[in-house]
Amino acid sequence: MSDDCLFCSIVDGDIPGRIVAERDDALAFLDANPLAPGHTLVVPRTHAERLDDLSVDDSRAVFDLVRDLAPDVEVAVDADGLNVGVNDGEAAGQEVPHVHVHLVPRFEGDGGAPIHAVAGDRPDLSDDELDEIAAKIE
Ligand code: 5GP
Ligand code: ZN
Repeated sequence: MSDDCLFCSIVDGDIPGRIVAERDDALAFLDANPLAPGHTLVVPRTHAERLDDLSVDDSRAVFDLVRDLAPDVEVAVDADGLNVGVNDGEAAGQEVPHVHVHLVPRFEGDGGAPIHAVAGDRPDLSDDELDEIAAKIE
């Protein structure tokens, strides 16, 4: 538990949340300000701010729960698809500093956009630049 962390407070039951799945190391609840019906958040029970702060076990627990819940969320709201994403860091739009994976149900013609729309202008990178970036990530 981190002091003043909203999602730690939901994990601890100190503030209410519409919990939809519980595991030993992960929890899922509905987003209070949903982008679509069924918008669900999956969080580790143990506080971690960024993906890089997650332990291997918590990472596994979170992403296993995402995998398990994805079809259930989609069926529950009769969606046609689902966007799954993490705003990892303030620059990426993270507002609550406790790792959470968004499951956002999508409907044909809902007027939304694919995940490709989240970043700014596309960079024009040469093959050499792509090779260089790949080598740095490896
Ligand atoms: P972020 O921008 O950090 O990726 O997303 C934070 C999400 O938490 C937002 O989608 C927001 O609607 C949701 N949220 C903020 N406060 C609460 C709350 O008190 N309860 C729940 N269930 N979700 C919240
Ligand atoms: Zn927390």
